[in-house]
Amino acid sequence: MGLDRRDLLVGAIEGGGTKYVCAVGTGPGKGLLARASFPTGDDPAKLLAQVATWLKEQEAIHGTLAAIGFASFGPIDLDSKSPTYGYVTSTPKPGWQNTDVLGPLRAAFGPIPIGFDTDTNGAALGERCWGAAQGLDDFVYITIGTGIGAGGMARGNLLHGLVHPEVGHLYLPNLPGDDFEGACPYHGRCWEGLCSGPAISKRTGMAAEALPPDHPAWDFETRYVALAIANLVFTLSPRRVIVGGSVRKGGKLGEAAFFASVRKHLLVALNRYVVSPVFEGDGIDGYVVPPALGDDAGVCGAIALGQIAAQFE
Ligand code: ZN
Repeated sequence: MGLDRRDLLVGAIEGGGTKYVCAVGTGPGKGLLARASFPTGDDPAKLLAQVATWLKEQEAIHGTLAAIGFASFGPIDLDSKSPTYGYVTSTPKPGWQNTDVLGPLRAAFGPIPIGFDTDTNGAALGERCWGAAQGLDDFVYITIGTGIGAGGMARGNLLHGLVHPEVGHLYLPNLPGDDFEGACPYHGRCWEGLCSGPAISKRTGMAAEALPPDHPAWDFETRYVALAIANLVFTLSPRRVIVGGSVRKGGKLGEAAFFASVRKHLLVALNRYVVSPVFEGDGIDGYVVPPALGDDAGVCGAIALGQIAAQFE
C-alpha cells in the first residue's frame, strides 16, 4: 500500500457501532471542512441513505469528491473477489447481520473510488499519516469503547489476512479474585467481554464514565488491557501501541492515570523478557500512548483510505 497522498478532497465515513461520523476534507484540523454524526441504529438502509445524501450536499458546497473512504465496524468482508465484499457479516448488532454497506454508496456515487477497511485499520492509518504512528511501519492501534478492536501495520502494510484480525476477542487468563462471567455473546470472557464499555457496565452496574477512581474494576480493566497488549507485543512486535476509544479516557480516573496503570502492568506482564529501550526507564511512556489525533483518528483515517483509493483509480 502506498502512503503518498495528494491533498485530495474526500468524503469520509467512520462507521462505528454507536454512531457514524462523516466528514468531507483533506486531512485533520483545518483540513476537515465539514462533519456530521448519525446514530448507527438498527436500520442500515435508512442510515446509509442519510449518509449518501449528506455527502452529496457537501459535494455541492465544497467541490467534487475524488473518492470516498469508509472505515466500518466489523466483522466485514474485505475480500474484493468475494460476492459479499463490502458487507458487515456476523455482528451481534440487531439489524446489521449480512448487510451490504458499500452497495448503497456505490449506487449513489457511481464509479467513484471507495477505500474500505475496518474502523480500527482506518484509525491506525489516520495515526500513521498525521498522528502518533508517523514514520512507523510496525504499530498497533487499539480501540476500547462499545467493543474492542485493533488494527495497525506490519512492514508498512495494514494488517489483513484470511479475513481481518479480531484482536478484541483474544482470550486472556483469569485474574485472581475475578469471578465476572464476561459480556461477549460469542466468547463470554474474551478481552472485549472483560473490558469493553458494556462489559464494565455489566461488571459494576455503572457506566465507565461514572466509576469512582478507586473502584476495583479499574484495576481489573487496566491489568487485562496490559495482558492483551503483552500478547500483541509477543505476536506482532509493534514499535508503538496506540490506545483510543472512549474507555481509554479513564472516566473519573482520568486518561493519565489509566495509561500509567496500563504501562505499569504491561512491564510486569513482559517481566523483562522482551529487551528494548522502550521497556527501560521512561521509554514505556512513549510506547503505550493515546492517539495524537484524539477522537478524530477514525474519521481522518477514513479520509486517508479514500485518498489512497483515489491513487489506484
Ligand atoms: Zn468475544
